Amino acid sequence: MNAAVTESPIQLHRPAKPVAPAAGPWTREAVLALMEKPFMELVQQAHAVHREHWPDGDIELASLLSVKTGGCPEDCGYCPQSVHYDTGVDASKLMAPDAVLEAARAAQEAGATRFCMGAAWRSPNDRDVEKVAELVRGVRGLGLQTCATLGMLSPSQAGTLAEAGLDYYNHNLDSAPDFYPTIIGTRQYQDRLDTLKNVRDAGIHVCCGGIVGMGETREQRAGLVAELANLNPPPESVPVNDLVRVEGTPLAGELKETPPLDPFEVVRVIAAARITMPGSRVRLSAGRRELGDGIQALCFMAGANSIFYGDKLLVTGNPDAEGDRALLQRLDLKTTGQVVAAKG
Ligand code: SF4
Repeated sequence: MNAAVTESPIQLHRPAKPVAPAAGPWTREAVLALMEKPFMELVQQAHAVHREHWPDGDIELASLLSVKTGGCPEDCGYCPQSVHYDTGVDASKLMAPDAVLEAARAAQEAGATRFCMGAAWRSPNDRDVEKVAELVRGVRGLGLQTCATLGMLSPSQAGTLAEAGLDYYNHNLDSAPDFYPTIIGTRQYQDRLDTLKNVRDAGIHVCCGGIVGMGETREQRAGLVAELANLNPPPESVPVNDLVRVEGTPLAGELKETPPLDPFEVVRVIAAARITMPGSRVRLSAGRRELGDGIQALCFMAGANSIFYGDKLLVTGNPDAEGDRALLQRLDLKTTGQVVAAKG
């Protein structure tokens, strides 16, 4: 376990109630049975679990900055940053530390408590990791929680980031194991699990979720949730993304004639994640703009308690920060910083 992380004065905003160890692994069938409950019953059940474990009901605001965009050698079928697809995204080098810190300060002033730095690498080299470790030290020095998503990590690279005080590492499972090979060919599911293990072993908290709306079945969505819930321990953060179809990516082409996923299905996934991972921050991530205010409200009801906040995700649009603040206000939802401040 990394001492720099455990002794940090930075609040990690964990659940109020200790989460009892799960009675056993979640089967895909059990998660599917949850997701197939009558909608209102499912939302009600998820809301009860949410109230029990997160009585403050606060919403965490995480800001995301792409510190190195595009040119990625992986072939993830949804991603505009892959070098394999013509999406109009230009490749750039790793941003200078001053520019990253400036963005972090701006995110903090706008109310974010976590700052995530994303770089489009298959797996960074050791020099890249050293540079990101410097960024982590700088951002952490501002009093923000830090998160990074850099691709596959070796045990020693995870150790370097842990030493720098990295609080969270994001590495998504993306989908169920049986759907995964239809969207990504350049690396295996097991590669993802290996990186997650390296991150865990280094003492860094895990941020791991997936994407829905890629043409998978409901059963496969349940399969993704079961995989996440069965990680031991489950990820502390679980981002749920609704696919944003970016022109030029294979999935945008393949799904051209397919209507977008029913937004209520996103709510069902959030609810299943909340019930199966009561102690995790469930983050409503990409695709929020398309979901609209009403569906987002239902997602919060079903247990989402974190959002990506700011004008831009890595390269796709996001509801603007002002709009987010207004929505949370209309729903009488406090943000994490506000709740901590109120407790003094
Ligand atoms: S999702 Fe990540 S790993 Fe996959 S192509 Fe995009 S940047 Fe590369």
